[in-house]
Amino acid sequence: MKKQTLRECPVCGHRQAEPLHSLHFVLTEDKNLAPACDVVACDRCGTAFADTPVTQREYDDLYAKRSRYAAGPAAHSTVNERDIGRFRDMAMEIESVVPDRSSRIADIGCANGQMLSALSALGYRCLTGVDPSPACVQHVNRIPGVEAFVGSLSDLASARQPFDIIVLSHVVEHVRDLKPALAHVQAHLNSAGIVYVEVPDASRYVDFVWSPFQDFNSEHINHFSLTSLANLLRRAGFAPFRSGSKEILSAPGMPYPAIFWFARRDPEAGSEIEKDPDLRDRLLDYVRVSKRLMHDIDTRLREALPDGAPVIVWGTGELTAKLLADTELGRANLVAFVDSNPINQGQRLRGLPILPPQELRSSGTTIVVASILHHDSIAAAIRDLGLQNPVLRLPCRISASAS
Ligand SMILES: [Zn+2]
Repeated sequence: MKKQTLRECPVCGHRQAEPLHSLHFVLTEDKNLAPACDVVACDRCGTAFADTPVTQREYDDLYAKRSRYAAGPAAHSTVNERDIGRFRDMAMEIESVVPDRSSRIADIGCANGQMLSALSALGYRCLTGVDPSPACVQHVNRIPGVEAFVGSLSDLASARQPFDIIVLSHVVEHVRDLKPALAHVQAHLNSAGIVYVEVPDASRYVDFVWSPFQDFNSEHINHFSLTSLANLLRRAGFAPFRSGSKEILSAPGMPYPAIFWFARRDPEAGSEIEKDPDLRDRLLDYVRVSKRLMHDIDTRLREALPDGAPVIVWGTGELTAKLLADTELGRANLVAFVDSNPINQGQRLRGLPILPPQELRSSGTTIVVASILHHDSIAAAIRDLGLQNPVLRLPCRISASAS
């Protein structure tokens, strides 16, 4: 059943699409986003996207506001081996395409600069980092050979442009208006400049279901395969020339799939669309598996939470937003939300303030751990605080093959 979309297809501009799943969220009060939207597959090119009425300006405001409060790298857990390996691999891919150490390389959304550090370690010295978080930028500026700026995809002022290569790693799945964003990238590249684009691989979401609908969330609004990402690049005036796929750990033992393309500026790139043959079917499989897991979670909550008994929810991320909308948790007698991330503390959810863990006191009130990815670290924090409350663990992954 096709529908006229609120939003143009981010790849081909078409307005007819097939709904794959209807998402509902209960978000914190600072997240001024739509409480529901359909994830759809474009009828013409097969790209999937969140058909959201939220504007680019509203997303920009949200990311700017949240990154202002980002505490920077010092607040994150220590840099770990798996991240070092991941960014070293990415730097070596880039080295194979631009081996000249004087190449001007920009990383947009550079966060705490791990990829730039890896390039710096390889001897590159004309590196630029751009990130909306002032704390991150301050940290990244200390890496040898790096100049960092507070900014975003639409705000690339730097003395080092035009760049030889611009890196967009896990950026474009967040961007509503991709056409102007990529035109902006192109304007800051030299005439044969290259873009490296890495995104989650929507064609393999179903093979990595740890948490239900983990990849359909309030911030990931475009869902690409290699085919649809190549379509996007060609239509933006780039000729894709090298691709790859990988898995990245989102939590210990829980990888998620990603893909990348290198593409060169090319006015002759052409704008023909190659329709993705199976992204729609792969995503419908993903929806089916996610729904089963969500059903298992709902059953566990119904069994474990007696009517009217008070409940504390630990974790206020994307899973909580869906559980509050779609499961028994939304009807429970919630008395407190807790989150260890300072960005979330002090925000309000369902009219309740989000507390830091230190404010909890031992009691008979059940704590629901509303995160599958971070269950173990939250359970450890509950133990370390000496809390004697009963703790409810959500069912974890069902087999992706059981459908
Ligand atoms: Zn399309």
